[in-house]
Amino acid sequence: MKVITLREGKERSMLRRHPWIFQGSVAKGSADPGETVRVQDAAGRFLAWAAYSPSSQIRVRAWSFDEAERIDAEFFQRKVEAAVQLRRRLGIDSNGIRLIHGEADGLPGLIVDQYDDVLSAQFLSAGTERWKDVIADALIATTGCPYLYERSDSGVRNLEGLPAVTGWLRHPDTAAGRRRATDVVTHETGGTLTLAVAEGHKTGYYLDQRDNRGLFAKLVRQLGCKTVLNCYSYTGGFSVAALEGGATDVTSVDSSGPALARASAHVTLNGYEASAHTALDADVNGTLRRFIKEGRTFDAIVLDPPKFAPSAAHADRASRAYKDINRLAFRLLNPGGLLLTFSCSGGIGGELFHKIVAGAGMDAGIDGYLLRRLEATSDHPTTLTFPEGEYLKGLAIIRKDSSECRKIQN
Ligand code: SAH
Repeated sequence: MKVITLREGKERSMLRRHPWIFQGSVAKGSADPGETVRVQDAAGRFLAWAAYSPSSQIRVRAWSFDEAERIDAEFFQRKVEAAVQLRRRLGIDSNGIRLIHGEADGLPGLIVDQYDDVLSAQFLSAGTERWKDVIADALIATTGCPYLYERSDSGVRNLEGLPAVTGWLRHPDTAAGRRRATDVVTHETGGTLTLAVAEGHKTGYYLDQRDNRGLFAKLVRQLGCKTVLNCYSYTGGFSVAALEGGATDVTSVDSSGPALARASAHVTLNGYEASAHTALDADVNGTLRRFIKEGRTFDAIVLDPPKFAPSAAHADRASRAYKDINRLAFRLLNPGGLLLTFSCSGGIGGELFHKIVAGAGMDAGIDGYLLRRLEATSDHPTTLTFPEGEYLKGLAIIRKDSSECRKIQN
């Protein structure tokens, strides 16, 4: 067993059970990509069993802080079972579920989503790459899902020195000898949606917004919103939810043509008139500006942009980008209207996001009631020891009526 010895004082985070060690904290030792190593402090005391990543800034990712534990096939079976068991206990009312959420489930670098009978997985670290077959077997054995598709085509793989890989990892031949297509149909409270694990973003869909889409449907109904603008719509999850909530005129904006084609198909698939929905293949920022010029307004707006700040280093520029779209959205929102605004940037904390949105409201001369703070669904858990895992944050805001707004402007 190879040993990685840390510099003096650099053991503190691992003693708090944080799973990462950065390159600069390693005093000596090396290993092959993904090889299991013993991590110890400068005095030689055991800290963790971990996977070594020779190319990554995150040089070591802990598998276990228990010296008696062995990192073998049974270990991965236990971890997968625990993660799946948690999801079962959560009683999620959908056939689209995040089963493994990386570090939070003790499996750093592993993401697994279940879409009906298909598992879609990302192996994003050298350690998960090395144990891929063992993990695949554990996933199939635990879930009973026969199909496992690999979507290891995230840019994060470059940092680990790993090439992009996609394709079926487990696929039993059907009786007719035909391959199962990569298309799946998922159901959630907001509606029924289709996706293709081979083509969609990430593993195919954004399950982290499932509860927020359900909440949106409820709020749209409760507040009587009719005109809805869904910005960064992807395949229209929030748009279908708006229709479910009684909206009659929904616009989806996204820069991905294939995603929008699905969004339009989802409208009719869920039994709504195609005429109730408009799909705009365009940049959101430019579209919001155009709508302001045209004097358009909406009863509800969703802003769910991609990650503007991949890390805290990008926070300044990202803050300006978030403020800009939120300011524009406020100007398009009818008095009493609903804004659901999100950031999935790990580098922007919840408190900062609140300040950004408040600043945007101030610039637009608009105040609002903060109805709720929003986060990822419970199958994307954060743990006490790994706060970095928290990434998605959002606010549900009701715009105050215009007389109150005028008071701010004056
Ligand atoms: N709300 C969606 C997920 C959105 S993901 C859901 O519930 O499923 C972010 C989306 O933003 C992606 O679909 C991406 O294609 C789109 N996007 C990224 N940059 C954009 C831009 N400048 N203008 C419009 N869409 C953009």
